[in-house]
Amino acid sequence: MGLVVQKYGGSSVADAEGIKRVAKRIVEAKKNGHQVVVVVSAMGDTTDELIDLAEQVSPMPSGREFDMLLTAGERISMALLAMAIKNLGHSAQSFTGSQAGVITDSVHNKARIIDVTPGRIRTALDEGNIAIVAGFQGVSQDKKDITTLGRGGSDTTAVALAAALDAEVCEIYTDVDGVFTADPRVVKKAQKIDWIAFEDMLELAASGSKVLLHRCVEYARRYNIPIHVRSSFSGLQGTWVSSEPLVKTQQQGEKPVEQAIISGVAHDTSEAKVTVVGVPDKPGEAAVIFRTIADAEINIDMIVQNVSAASTGLTDISFTLPKAEGRKAIDALEKNKAGIGFDSLRYDDQIGKISLVGAGMKTNPGVTADFFKALSDAGVNIELISTSEIRISVVTRADDVNEAVRAVHTAFGLDSDSDEAVVYGGTGR
Ligand code: ASP
Ligand code: MG
Repeated sequence: MGLVVQKYGGSSVADAEGIKRVAKRIVEAKKNGHQVVVVVSAMGDTTDELIDLAEQVSPMPSGREFDMLLTAGERISMALLAMAIKNLGHSAQSFTGSQAGVITDSVHNKARIIDVTPGRIRTALDEGNIAIVAGFQGVSQDKKDITTLGRGGSDTTAVALAAALDAEVCEIYTDVDGVFTADPRVVKKAQKIDWIAFEDMLELAASGSKVLLHRCVEYARRYNIPIHVRSSFSGLQGTWVSSEPLVKTQQQGEKPVEQAIISGVAHDTSEAKVTVVGVPDKPGEAAVIFRTIADAEINIDMIVQNVSAASTGLTDISFTLPKAEGRKAIDALEKNKAGIGFDSLRYDDQIGKISLVGAGMKTNPGVTADFFKALSDAGVNIELISTSEIRISVVTRADDVNEAVRAVHTAFGLDSDSDEAVVYGGTGR
């Protein structure tokens, strides 16, 4: 029996009852003969509450203090969980990210893990303990300040520890039964996926699927760590995310599975659209626009340039970006208006993106046409389109998104016969 890393999200440890329930599950794994490392998130909506609190005290808190504050959330749950496990007669020790050897760069609020040196975790395990680690946090290599990894970062902590400790699997426990063919909060007939390849999972995560963070899947793929996403509420088999098309069950061992043509439909309403109107249609224009945006440290997603009107020689360029960066982008472009030479800017935050993802797209030519047909049958107008080898995305009105997701899900035969998609917890905050 090898080492397993288990990660429990905030909704799984939302209250004392949740912590006790999770403690029982952890002890089960230990009794089955595993060495167990647990990564835990802050209880319920604690992180959001801490953010609200900071905003009441200061509109622009320093990154260092903000991180110090936020990491308190995970410290609360790790200590309580260790206590609950001890209460069940097993030994457990809790560790902060820094104590667990999670070394990051010094970019506060969205630090990147650059090394993991889990010496103390190894020792704790060798002495027969269950090791509990606070997720979402580390310590910066040069300044030795406490950092956080960005929202939802505990998943990344878990995979990084699994890689450093050469774990057999990284189990991510959440409030749904696994990865679904669409967000079960929107599509009642979404189906649980038994197995999904890293590359499809990466596309889903990049397209707005919230069940696993993009960075966490990237990390898992790089170190080839299988992830098992499952519910801490139900005990059912969840979704295996790995390079090998197989699932592992305790009863049947490893079982090969077939790769689906379409893995799922993702949606995202967190983006906005900027249109630069009246740009001279000559070489170098796009370069200045996107240099301006890049210099403002804004990541963009889709780009569309329209054909220019022959009479004016002017064109429009639209791009999408996180809503949170909208103000910054508009300000940066306005400031450089003379240098770029456009007429005006339009900003639209009432958009949504729907993406169809599946490796089978590469070899099935009809997919794009079927996707557009489903959208048109649902009366949904398409504003932007972008594709990769295994994904096709469109931007629509935000109001149309839920309807569009359901229509596409049905059109590609992804609906399940039963309403099996259960959401066990979480406020979706
Ligand atoms: N507690 C942090 C958050 O809510 C980290 C996590 O849950 O993974 O973003
Ligand atoms: Mg959380």
